[in-house]
Amino acid sequence: MAATASSLASQFSGLRREVLSREAAPSTALFVRSVRSRIRLPASCRPPRGVVAMAGTGKFFVGGNWKCNGTRDSITKLVADLNDAKLETDVDVVVAPPYIYIDQVKQSLTDRIEISAQNSWIGKGGAFTGEISVEQLVDIGCKWVILGHSERRHIIGEDDQFIGKKAAYALSQNLKMKAFADSISNWTDVVIAYEPVWAIGTGKVATPQQAQEVHLAVRDWLKKNVSAEVASSTRIIYGGSVNGNNSSELAKQEDIDGFLVGGASLKGPEFAVIVNSVTSKKVAA
Ligand code: PEP
Repeated sequence: MAATASSLASQFSGLRREVLSREAAPSTALFVRSVRSRIRLPASCRPPRGVVAMAGTGKFFVGGNWKCNGTRDSITKLVADLNDAKLETDVDVVVAPPYIYIDQVKQSLTDRIEISAQNSWIGKGGAFTGEISVEQLVDIGCKWVILGHSERRHIIGEDDQFIGKKAAYALSQNLKMKAFADSISNWTDVVIAYEPVWAIGTGKVATPQQAQEVHLAVRDWLKKNVSAEVASSTRIIYGGSVNGNNSSELAKQEDIDGFLVGGASLKGPEFAVIVNSVTSKKVAA
């Protein structure tokens, strides 16, 4: 069953989450993320199982959100560092530069790393001053879009309904099927990220156990509300002060399928360490 994007936003009430969505068509992909209030863990939560293989069946995923940072020069350096980095092959790696540098990054960054925007408009472009449409993002080679980041919720004032519309439109462009315009019909192209607000940009990271508990609760929610298959295959990633020192312990957790990284994604070598923390999962398995 497919939940509509807006109903997804409502049903996740009580959850803090981000949804990252990638299009099904080979040419494009979208990051969509939606963050809500705090999660209440179901009584049935199993205790975290130390270090084991991934509970999810999706590939490890690491996204770097550059936010409103960078200049032409600093981005040239960051791209050069990323191009030099040795990245494990079995990880989906995505970076989200500010809009105005996307083209520069697209022209210079290795194809190994895909590119995301940090936001998109709720529908087709037109008389919407200051907005960027999904079609424009696809046109310049963006594969993902981030929607519903807590900074857009808390600072800009975006709500679930608005974010749900954006997710639906972004997904509709991927699928090119109008009938699915308001649906998340292909969960293989959706990544959910959990980010405790208190951990974003603060240097205070959730403990691996805390993160695991919430990831497990999100997976259980998917199981109950969508399907067991979707619960298993959807990547659930952690964000909030992830860095090169803490990523490996977090990565060992069964239900952590990757990371959404802010500050540390601005340093190429450190971002590479985070990407390569997938090896902790392999060793643990
Ligand atoms: C974020 O903003 O999504 C984020 C995780 O930031 P940081 O890594 O800097 O906490």
